[in-house]
Amino acid sequence: MSDKLEKEQRLQAILAEAQLDTLAIRAGQIRTAEGENAEPIFPTSSYVFENAAEAAARFSGEDVGNVYSRYTNPTVRNFEQRIAALEGGEAAVGTSSGMAAILSTCMSLLKAGDHVVCSRNVFGTTTNLFLKYLCKFGLEVTFVDLVKLDDWKEAIQPNTKMLFCETPSNPICEVADLTALSALAKANNCLFVVDNCFCTPALQKPLEFGADLVIHSATKYLDGQGRCVGGAVVGCKEHIDEIVGFLRTCGPTMSPFNAWVFLKGLETLRLRMDAHCSNALQLALWLEQREQIEQVFYAGLDSHPGKALATKQQRGYGGVLSFRVKGDRAAAWRFIDATCICSLTANLGDVKTTIVHPATTTHGRLTDEQRAEANITDNLIRVAVGLEDIEDLKADMLRGIAAL
Ligand SMILES: *Cc1c(COP(=O)(O)O)cnc(C)c1O
Repeated sequence: MSDKLEKEQRLQAILAEAQLDTLAIRAGQIRTAEGENAEPIFPTSSYVFENAAEAAARFSGEDVGNVYSRYTNPTVRNFEQRIAALEGGEAAVGTSSGMAAILSTCMSLLKAGDHVVCSRNVFGTTTNLFLKYLCKFGLEVTFVDLVKLDDWKEAIQPNTKMLFCETPSNPICEVADLTALSALAKANNCLFVVDNCFCTPALQKPLEFGADLVIHSATKYLDGQGRCVGGAVVGCKEHIDEIVGFLRTCGPTMSPFNAWVFLKGLETLRLRMDAHCSNALQLALWLEQREQIEQVFYAGLDSHPGKALATKQQRGYGGVLSFRVKGDRAAAWRFIDATCICSLTANLGDVKTTIVHPATTTHGRLTDEQRAEANITDNLIRVAVGLEDIEDLKADMLRGIAAL
């Protein structure tokens, strides 16, 4: 064996035991004969074969090498191995967006007549995907309250095949009991799927609590700097192979350039998440002291009912918080419009702090009744706290408070 190969194998054995910070920087790296230190990008749609026999072997699957970038791409594989290592999963697959990750999971692992139980306050487009599109193909969905375990139990039917949730929830940071939900899924022969976008593996690893699959919108914290749209699914090889089969046929795969951006994003993931958590906690505590603020929702606050569970499941409380101002919708809008540093955008998971009025944007499609059920009142504002200086952020919130 060559020295180089031997060293490579030693590194892989070491990485199998390594900690998150090491994996975020080293896992899955490909190094070409050029000896580059940073990960290479392979912007190619297809690959050439040595000869006709090799082409035939690749197409038959006897040789697992590259054929076409809708099937495999080295940079995308690099990202997949790294996110799998971080989540503690056997395998992962990259997708063109977070929504493509959810779609591909459902299309490949469910069929007409199957039933899904989903938490009510998931990402709005996820609700729309289930109700407007997947239901058209014979999937049944029941939405339940994320934190009411009895509601989950009652919703299970003989044809239930999947439990799906997001925790902490958007925007009021409710926390699901991952251990209890995974036990419920196991007892009923269902897959338990967790959208881990808000926490990322730096703060929470749902697979360790018994989840079967983890979904990511890489667009958010995995990139963390608002540059690219992408997604991923992490789980056991058997499930991921099914999803890969769907992606190869249907096409919403991750681009090599985006995979490269996400790879570089992962390198600083834990540092950024710790900084997001620190800024968000400080801002939440500070907002709670302001008399013009009615209520603050953040799982790191003693006043939050999900704090104990979040402390058990999460390494930090995340970067997203929300609060109710004393006043009506017009007051909430005035608050938002008076801030200067915060970006007024519905996106989150960025180094730039973002501010949004959920009732008229992210949750605007819900009926009044659905919004009331989800606790999204007209005076609620969501802030995805970025990495600007905390004193400058407080000053920006004061501009909002002054406009109330
Ligand atoms: C943004 C988001 C998605 C969808 O991801 P895209 O990359 O925008 O397709 C799914 N789930 C959650 C929790 C999100 O925040």
